[in-house]
Amino acid sequence: MTVDAHKETLGFQTEVRQLLDLMIHSLYSNKEIFLRELVSNAADAADKLRFEALGDDALYEGDGELRIRVAFDKEARTVSVTDNGIGMSRQEVQEHLGTIARSGTREFVSQLTGDQAKDSRLIGQFGVGFYSSFIVADKVTVETRRAGLGVEHGVRWISEGQGEYTLETVERVARGTTVTLHLREGEDEFLEPFRLKSIITRYSDHIPLPIEMLGEPQGEGDDAKPAEWETVNRASALWMRAKNEISDEEYAAFYKHVAHDFEDPLLHMHNRVEGKHEYSSLLYVPKRAPFDLWDRDRRQGIKLYVRRVFIMDDAEHLMPGYLRFVRGVIDSDDLPLNVSREILQHNRVIDAIRGASVKRVLGRLETLAKDEPETYAEFWTAFGKVLKEGPGEDHENRERIARLLRFASTSGEGDAETVSLEDYVGRMGEDQEKIYYVTADTFAAAANSPHLELFRKKGIEVLLMHDRIDEWLVGMLPEFDGKQLQSVSQGEVEGLDEEAEKRVEQAKEEQGELVSRVKTALGDRVEEVRFTARLTDSPACLVAKEAGMSAHLGRLLKAAGQEVPDVPLTLELNPDHKLVARLEGETDEGRFGEWSELLYEQALLSEGGQLADPAGFVRRMNGLLLELAG
Ligand code: ADP
Ligand code: MG
Repeated sequence: MTVDAHKETLGFQTEVRQLLDLMIHSLYSNKEIFLRELVSNAADAADKLRFEALGDDALYEGDGELRIRVAFDKEARTVSVTDNGIGMSRQEVQEHLGTIARSGTREFVSQLTGDQAKDSRLIGQFGVGFYSSFIVADKVTVETRRAGLGVEHGVRWISEGQGEYTLETVERVARGTTVTLHLREGEDEFLEPFRLKSIITRYSDHIPLPIEMLGEPQGEGDDAKPAEWETVNRASALWMRAKNEISDEEYAAFYKHVAHDFEDPLLHMHNRVEGKHEYSSLLYVPKRAPFDLWDRDRRQGIKLYVRRVFIMDDAEHLMPGYLRFVRGVIDSDDLPLNVSREILQHNRVIDAIRGASVKRVLGRLETLAKDEPETYAEFWTAFGKVLKEGPGEDHENRERIARLLRFASTSGEGDAETVSLEDYVGRMGEDQEKIYYVTADTFAAAANSPHLELFRKKGIEVLLMHDRIDEWLVGMLPEFDGKQLQSVSQGEVEGLDEEAEKRVEQAKEEQGELVSRVKTALGDRVEEVRFTARLTDSPACLVAKEAGMSAHLGRLLKAAGQEVPDVPLTLELNPDHKLVARLEGETDEGRFGEWSELLYEQALLSEGGQLADPAGFVRRMNGLLLELAG
């Protein structure tokens, strides 16, 4: 048979080049991980073949015993990893080993700084993969043949990791893939069987597939028996083993394989469920958010198995969006092997497994929050923003999720998000009925909001919310523990400060004219002008209607490109403020207008709003300052 070799030289995608370069330098101190990555890919390839063969037995080509072989050649100074998994077609080789298909790569690479410590952490989150071969090799050869294609469809890929690779068609009898590393000068340790074996057991013991190495030949002379392939790993599915027989190191090693992560997980949950539905689950929460946590096209974290057969990655139906950071494996005894993504959407077994898994994760996070608050804080920093999607997405578990939320507050320390709703409620005074919060674009804007003045004076705690998602969250969480969540910048304040309220009543009677003069000066830009008990230090502030949309939400929606009608806010005046008194004494209507304008503008600014006429504001301001300067 002749093969048209069709040899070509191709360039790596720019991102691959940058990544290759950084990887070699920043991961050098951990270079042995290349073997874990190659074995992991070989195991994935076996999973894929098993799955495709469910529909087409012929793909096995009579060889259904899937395994991985690790070999070395001291003279040639090579190490190779061979699998009889799915293999790759020419096009697949080009796609998978020449580009990085995962979305978000560009942003990822742009985050790299050249600072080794920082970059290696980022690369860890990204998952290093195949390209890690170049940490120890100055040339890598891949020979592969896709299951189902004839022997003339073999492909050889060669690269020195310098920006380009060659691709040619070759004959290859064996289905699957061989990756051969030509070791760099000084990397001879990887030619020692003992060293290779120990790396395999360290990182890949849990791979549910035999990993074999060639043993020593037995006997001598005529009795000599050729060396045989020996399995060096445990080769059983980790999630099927008893919990008490699995060490933390084994859990962590398996996590790195399923999650394509470089770091240990934050925690794991391992369960065998029997009864109506039977399944095993091994779920993990990572330490750090993956770089593509906010990427809509990102892969989800759970691998679905049916009776030990891998069915699919990224089974998004197994975890709701607000728990999308959870990684791991679910292995069902009840689902049919030919289950498809479409079937998964409306499947009673899946719904039951998912419901129970969600409860398990929430339960585990609850214990963590209670028993290990410091670790929980780490979790919150990484995934708090995602968890905040929960109350809107999962009504059934709303109260439980709400208990897991953490906020900054006027009783907390700085901008640290450490206050739970339970803490807040526990600290509420006897006559306090509501949970108060303020939302703003930044922590500083929230913490310094004039709307807090009365609450500060009365020693009432206010939650300081400054995440984009908080506005939405409070919309989805009208109450907690029977207590209503109340924005301090919406509606009127009542029943908090009797004395100040009396003063407001008095001002209404005695200074009622002032209010209508200001309203006339400002026109339609304000809904209403009134006196308030809310302020102690500031002369004025703006508030939204109780039932209406908050000004902050209006701005967020606008920024997101939505049509939002301009709803005028109410201007509230502090009856005890000197500037307000000064305003009242102004008889020149023109100057009265300027003063009113200025009060409105500063209230708008401190509330986080934007001035329609910033230059006009500056002019007014300077006019008054000049007056002061005399
Ligand atoms: P990842 O495993 O995270 O997808 P890698 O860089 O490790 O990233 O591998 C890139 C891709 O190359 C894999 O997704 C797979 O499609 C392909 N690949 C790598 N090794 C093999 C192999 N031994 N058999 C089949 N495909 C492979
Ligand atoms: Mg990989």
